[in-house]
Amino acid sequence: MTDLPQIGDWKGYVELAALQDERLSHVLERAAASPFYADRIPTVGRTRADLNALACTTKRDLRDSYPFGMLACGMDRVATYHESSGTAGQPTPSFYTEADWTDLAERYARKRIPITPDDTFLVRTPYALMITGHLAQAAARLQGAAVVPGDNRSLAMPYSRVVRVLHDLGVTLTWSMPTETLLWAAAAREAGYREFPALRALFVGGEPLSLPRRRRIEEIWGVPVVEEYGSTETGSLAGECDQGHLHLWADRAIFEVRDPASAEIMPEGRGQLVVTPLYREAMPLLRYNLEDDVEVSYAPCDCGWGLPRIRVFGRAAFGYPVQGARITQYRLEELVFGLPADLEVMFWRAKTSPDVLRVQIEVPCGRHDEARNALTSAIHEAYGVYCEVTALPAGSLVPRATLTAVHDVVKPRSLFGADEEWDKALLYH
Ligand SMILES: [Zn+2]
Repeated sequence: MTDLPQIGDWKGYVELAALQDERLSHVLERAAASPFYADRIPTVGRTRADLNALACTTKRDLRDSYPFGMLACGMDRVATYHESSGTAGQPTPSFYTEADWTDLAERYARKRIPITPDDTFLVRTPYALMITGHLAQAAARLQGAAVVPGDNRSLAMPYSRVVRVLHDLGVTLTWSMPTETLLWAAAAREAGYREFPALRALFVGGEPLSLPRRRRIEEIWGVPVVEEYGSTETGSLAGECDQGHLHLWADRAIFEVRDPASAEIMPEGRGQLVVTPLYREAMPLLRYNLEDDVEVSYAPCDCGWGLPRIRVFGRAAFGYPVQGARITQYRLEELVFGLPADLEVMFWRAKTSPDVLRVQIEVPCGRHDEARNALTSAIHEAYGVYCEVTALPAGSLVPRATLTAVHDVVKPRSLFGADEEWDKALLYH
């Protein structure tokens, strides 16, 4: 595939829509090759009007079509198979061809802080079944960077190893969930690493990130945080511009918004994000409802990309009732990370009941009263609810052992020497 559009190939939204329309007949034709879409789309015409007549494809549809119902080509053309995280026992399948991977890698590589051949790139997201680790790796390889695969779900890569490679290899860019970067900061402190002069930026995604937490991560590491938005079923869907806004890759997919109350599908506004990828061979998706709560806007941005903007709320609106108020993780996070930076609060948890909100924060010794009082007031001011804030010593919520442990990943073994523990026989860790 050589005709993938690049930023700058269109002038304004009218040209962008024309570019999408031109592609759409291929997309609908391709989709007709999958069992799921075969009898859902017309055999002639294949225009945007045909797309507009379609109902959304849901996550449920993907699960019901497991394993091959969405596949529009033979397995001989499939390069990778993935499943998204989430509902246990109900796999959500995704297939990609080699050409699909060019589109995937290019979209991820669109970063306001570019990935270059001089970069050493630590990938710290899962490689098993999900796409995220492979996606970052493919994009970094495409740009000529050196990849350090550091899967965050593997016993082979405890935090002590992460901070060692960050430091010793002079890692310049990383890809992880935002929470990971705070765990690295704590692990680095435990290991005695003070400076990471090579680090240029932290690429993050996969988790809601409030502005105060983002600012705190930037203060701690002294480098910019760059956000990314996507899914295993679609790859990267949006990235940050130099003005700090998330833009949708609307040259590679058509984006719409579904109002969950009326089921109406609109070009912009607040609702669930609906995606029609324009360059998919293995598993075409038409009006795929990601079920993420978002807001899409075509307001102009000074970056000049000419791509719509998106705000992702995810499950930010989801909350639990306490004394008549609805407590959300997102707002609580804002309050916790709104505490003065010198209190060094990085880890917290909270539990709700109808009568009381209980919050625990890790705070260095000597600052407990101050931190507790500050957070209690902030929560009271924000919600008007009674809360119990407990300040705990470092290591209470994230145990030191998590930050310092060094696992020996061993191969299966049956024969042991006289002075060895044979309890490890046949265990893989
Ligand atoms: Zn912009």
